[in-house]
Amino acid sequence: MTGRPEKLFPLFSAMTSLDGIGPKTALTLESVGITKPRDLLMTLPLSGVDRGQRATIRDVVAPAVVTVEVTIGEHFPPRTRGRPYRIHVTDAETTFQLVFFHARGDYLSKQLPTGQRRIVSGKIEVFDNVAQMVHPDHMLRIEDAAQIPTFEPVYPLHAGITQKLMWKGTRASLGLAPDLAEWIDPSLVTQHGWPTWLQAMRDAHTPEATSDLSMHAVARERLAYDELFAHQVTLALARAVARRGKGRSSKPTNILQNKVLAGLPYKSTGAQTRAVTEISADLAAPMRMNRLLQGDVGSGKTLVALMALLAVVEAGGQGVMMAPTEILARQHLEGLQPLATSAGVNLEILTGRDKGADRAAKLARLAAGDIQILVGTHAVFQKGVDFADLRLAIIDEQHRFGVAQRMELGAKGQAVDVLVMTATPIPRSLALAQYGDMDVSVLDEKPPGRMPVQTALVSTNRIDEVVDKLRRAVADGRQAYWVCPLVEESEFLDMTAAEERFKRLRATLGESVVGLVHGQMPSADKDAAMARFVSGKTKVLVATTVIEVGVNVPNASIMVIERAETFGLAQLHQLRGRVGRGSAASTCLLLFQDPLTETGRRRLEILRETEDGFKISEEDLAMRGAGDVIGTAQSGVPRFRIADLERQASLMQVAQTDARKLLNDDQKLETSRGEAVRTALWLMEQDKAIRLISVG
Ligand code: ADP
Ligand code: MG
Repeated sequence: MTGRPEKLFPLFSAMTSLDGIGPKTALTLESVGITKPRDLLMTLPLSGVDRGQRATIRDVVAPAVVTVEVTIGEHFPPRTRGRPYRIHVTDAETTFQLVFFHARGDYLSKQLPTGQRRIVSGKIEVFDNVAQMVHPDHMLRIEDAAQIPTFEPVYPLHAGITQKLMWKGTRASLGLAPDLAEWIDPSLVTQHGWPTWLQAMRDAHTPEATSDLSMHAVARERLAYDELFAHQVTLALARAVARRGKGRSSKPTNILQNKVLAGLPYKSTGAQTRAVTEISADLAAPMRMNRLLQGDVGSGKTLVALMALLAVVEAGGQGVMMAPTEILARQHLEGLQPLATSAGVNLEILTGRDKGADRAAKLARLAAGDIQILVGTHAVFQKGVDFADLRLAIIDEQHRFGVAQRMELGAKGQAVDVLVMTATPIPRSLALAQYGDMDVSVLDEKPPGRMPVQTALVSTNRIDEVVDKLRRAVADGRQAYWVCPLVEESEFLDMTAAEERFKRLRATLGESVVGLVHGQMPSADKDAAMARFVSGKTKVLVATTVIEVGVNVPNASIMVIERAETFGLAQLHQLRGRVGRGSAASTCLLLFQDPLTETGRRRLEILRETEDGFKISEEDLAMRGAGDVIGTAQSGVPRFRIADLERQASLMQVAQTDARKLLNDDQKLETSRGEAVRTALWLMEQDKAIRLISVG
């Protein structure tokens, strides 16, 4: 790909190239991420002020912005320092005052000579029963009145930046903006009545009424679409590159799969069968698979993963499944090894804990193809871990695996099919933004027979009652998790909170009944603590959020979460998903610290009302915004400057469809529309995409 199109040069020049912007202002702007005229253009007004002229301020309900023609009356310079300078003025019907602090009298007498007529515009306030306008925004001669826009855009501001500067800067930037060839599909343009990019920019910066500031105004909608589209083209390029990567065709025979299924005490759900079919088709196809398996906690992703792994083994290859933690990797081993063995398949585990001769022996068996399925932590992807014929890599529970990382994996050029499994139900719009480069299978159906989890909000003041309840439940043979809060993101403090709670619960419930697991424990101790809980030796497991993902102990039917208000909704949902896995009725107690804010309470109530992870995530998104729901920086979801991810999900869908179709028809972006799209990618600073075009 050649460099940035020349037409865009002016928009990418230094801020100081704009009239009225010196080095100092440029620095201030830079501190808020505005480094070039293009960035100013991408900063749209938040609101607007009606500066339509009226005859008098008489019936204005103060405070309000008013534009009015006045006759300048008497000047009243301050008698003592620190007092304001006042000028009486008269409009068509009444008199009021212009007020200036720290003003130079000679300047004011020159600007506003007594007896002359002026247009003034500013906020009218009433102070001591006197109407006044402090520091008018505009003071002009009658013949210059047209300089005041009837509807003035109001820009988001930061320290050191004024509306005047934003106004002048955006006007100057508009002057540099070129007319660009259309990159949007013409039928979409027609359907939505969208103006060209240039016209849209002009309109968006020159609103004439409040309705022009709405995200549904055609100009702003088009600009939002541009942003979403550029992002989706990037993802579609990543997808195309990944798929073009020489894949292997692994045709499953179903023999091993059927053996395992026949031995299970239950039948696959419809959603599981559907997902396995989709995955098998990808595996059989010569393209490289890049698929996301999305399913709420307990939806049975593990079985789907096993079926996929068996499929590549059936085709004579190997598969690997990576879990984010040692505990989860072990759990997969325990759950899957017997099933694999029953089908005559060797399944082994590899983690950072494998050392020395044992590790060497495992690696040798792996390289010889003797181990057909490997589960483990990220250790499975380390140097020196060589497979005889690796065909499928499954990444479990990795909601923090971003677009950029997936691109890196793709760029390694291994012909490995990739399946990412996430238990974090995310709203459609975010899924599109975050995983738009992948194909998606959804497990939208839970295995039958699950009992609902009763969720209750309990104030920490009643913690003694909770402990009592726990004692009785334990006496009944039930098991419980007790999750301790994150303390200021410090693992050390987490640990202290958990250890403290552990000691107290042991003192009340009995030494042998309570176990402890947290991230700072040596791995062997962690395993031992988990094992004791799984086997039922300990009844209550005090834990930090290390148990958030994946852990499966069907007999555990009580989940207590301390300081629930400090957790994200998705995280609480995950934690709650640890119970309700067996046949007993389960309970989740959300302990909160009084006083709880209104929003805090509302958030927790959502959990009480529903167990539907998607619904919870939609609510969470609506309440907190995209940035907080998924750490944007690390997840690879961009912060859009114009588009609203929460409320423009359908536009995002359109962008994805459009982008995929475009790349299908014009792989290398060589048609005239393709050329225009390249310009859009430069304009939207989709550097990744630009690099990907050259890969392709
Ligand atoms: P997750 O999607 O959270 O990883 P798991 O794969 O751990 O869910 O499955 C949760 C539980 O449901 C496990 O105990 C598993 O054995 C069981 N399970 C999976 N599929 C089915 C099914 N089709 N019918 C009944 N139980 C199932
Ligand atoms: Mg799982």
